[in-house]
Amino acid sequence: MTGLCDSFQRPINYLRISVTDRCNLRCVYCMPAGGIHWMSHQDILTYEEIYTVVRAAAELGITKIRLTGGEPLVRLGLPKLVEMLRRIDPIDDISLTTNGTLLSRYAAELKQAGLKRVNISLDTLKQDRFKVITRSSYELSDVLAGIDAARSAGLNPVKINMVVMAGINEDEVLDFANKTINEEWNVRFIEFMPTAGVSNANLHFVSVGDIKGQLEPLGELEPCLPRVGNGPARYFRFHNGRGSVGFISPVSEHFCFHCNRLRLTADGRLRPCLLSDEEIDLRQPLRRGISLAELKGLIETAATKKPLRHQLAEGHVPIDRPMTQVGG
Ligand code: SAM
Ligand code: SF4
Repeated sequence: MTGLCDSFQRPINYLRISVTDRCNLRCVYCMPAGGIHWMSHQDILTYEEIYTVVRAAAELGITKIRLTGGEPLVRLGLPKLVEMLRRIDPIDDISLTTNGTLLSRYAAELKQAGLKRVNISLDTLKQDRFKVITRSSYELSDVLAGIDAARSAGLNPVKINMVVMAGINEDEVLDFANKTINEEWNVRFIEFMPTAGVSNANLHFVSVGDIKGQLEPLGELEPCLPRVGNGPARYFRFHNGRGSVGFISPVSEHFCFHCNRLRLTADGRLRPCLLSDEEIDLRQPLRRGISLAELKGLIETAATKKPLRHQLAEGHVPIDRPMTQVGG
């Protein structure tokens, strides 16, 4: 194993994999109201192809995998993929980002297959608002059942991701924070990023600075270390709080200098940066029968193409792909 680095000497040990672009929700901050045109099944990497990419990446030094989407649990047989990936020797952490609606069905099976932990996206604790934000027929109670099932299965720590949006759910910041005091919730407040196909990010943007200001009535935030994780969040807890509060500020205070990741899109392109449109195709080479050594070469090339930082502040928003294909 060599230890993969980018051109700026950042170690790359983390691969996020979008296993499908499909989703059973249509969240206002992620998808256009009209939905997106789904990729055809032939365009999506098979589990065997994903396995081959992870095997090559692991030989280069990738040890951590996150499965995401779209909604990863709408793809059939996800526990089978977890089971396959856990057998790749240096991979020591497989996690999942999910909207939680289907999690109560799969949590135990995923744990059994080797999944370590989950992040669950939840942007409101109000049933009516849940429908408005997710534009779906699912219920808030489906997600709450998913959270309970994840905890019972031992997929800990369960982290809750809330995208904070002015005029939509900003008034619930205190309710979510209170859940970290009275219950063992680990909530991460995320800034709304402008992404392809979503035009209203600026209108509803709330900075992490503003979110912290809103939390002041609950007392001082004490910095704490994440229990596990490789991500960009900074963690705190309230005095006597049972859980933790995290902040993710891709827009107001980028964390690119610590970026340790590559992304694999649902259709098999390696994406060096979430917020740049550059990609390297692995699917065609895989289907042409590329050798493992050549595949490793393509992964190394993708690492060298990581930009120093994203250019959102300069007005460069990715235009090619919705989040569901890239994997948020
Ligand atoms: N469907 C799964 C879910 O919702 O957790 C996984 C995919 S989703 C694209 C991954 C994460 O991206 C979610 O936590 C979601 O909140 C976040 N996300 C999507 N669009 C975003 C945006 N415009 N700004 C900030 N976060 C966003
Ligand atoms: Fe689907 Fe997740 Fe995007 Fe919501 S955030 S539309 S659940 S992919």
